[in-house]
Amino acid sequence: MIKAVQKDDAFLTDLRGVGEGRDRLDIWWLGQSGFLLHWNGKNILLDPYLSDSLTLKYQGTAKPHIRMCERVVDPAKLQFMHYVTSSHVHTDHLDPDTLAPLFANNPGLKLILPLAHLREGMKRSGCSGERMGGLDAGQTFAEDEISFTAVPAAHETLQVDEEGHHLFLGYIVRAGPWTLYHSGDTVLYPGMAELLKPYAPDVSFLPINGTDPSRGVSGNMNAREAVWLAKNIDSKLTIPCHFHLFEFNTVEPDEFIETAQKEQVPIRVMQVGERLSLQL
Ligand SMILES: [Zn+2]
Repeated sequence: MIKAVQKDDAFLTDLRGVGEGRDRLDIWWLGQSGFLLHWNGKNILLDPYLSDSLTLKYQGTAKPHIRMCERVVDPAKLQFMHYVTSSHVHTDHLDPDTLAPLFANNPGLKLILPLAHLREGMKRSGCSGERMGGLDAGQTFAEDEISFTAVPAAHETLQVDEEGHHLFLGYIVRAGPWTLYHSGDTVLYPGMAELLKPYAPDVSFLPINGTDPSRGVSGNMNAREAVWLAKNIDSKLTIPCHFHLFEFNTVEPDEFIETAQKEQVPIRVMQVGERLSLQL
């Protein structure tokens, strides 16, 4: 089991102790595509998966989901959370065992999710529509100085529901002077780099586990594709994700690191539970 560099009480102490300021951004990796952002007193969770719901669901099946890294924190212990995103309906990105305790303990929390999955979001979080920010690609949810703009994601393909709403999304997250891109689960699709390049994100969070149908793994960029995208959207810093959670669906970040060095793309490989503090 990969150890979290900080977990439980140590993680919570670290979160409570971070400095304030508009020019400062703190980022923790929670494993898989999950991140916690702290900006100017606001806490934003991106696709958190902080339970063992998939391990339990697939126990004894042909596709066991064996956890590789420790859980960083019990979601019931996270307080003062303001926003949580979900890029799509798969449980490692919209987890009832993470969302229900989070919503029960955070009265002001809002869920930003694909409009196509509004009902599922309400069901899994146990909350009513007032706490949902449903978005389709091109739409923005904004409050004060924080906003989420949905962009399409192709989890293998670009797909829409009967009403034409995208099933898979990525988000451009703006927090004061910061612009971030959380891609969700996606492969490269035509026009993607052109769409994202104007945002020139300060930080991009991109999956690197790739596609391997022989292992039942599909729908994500591999290391080389993630580096290509980072370079072509002028991402100032790129953090790889979607690895080291489940044994059947992981890669080592070595190829990502080597390719990024060759292409001179700025990256930071985080460890689970680690904090990265950035300053403008
Ligand atoms: Zn996923």
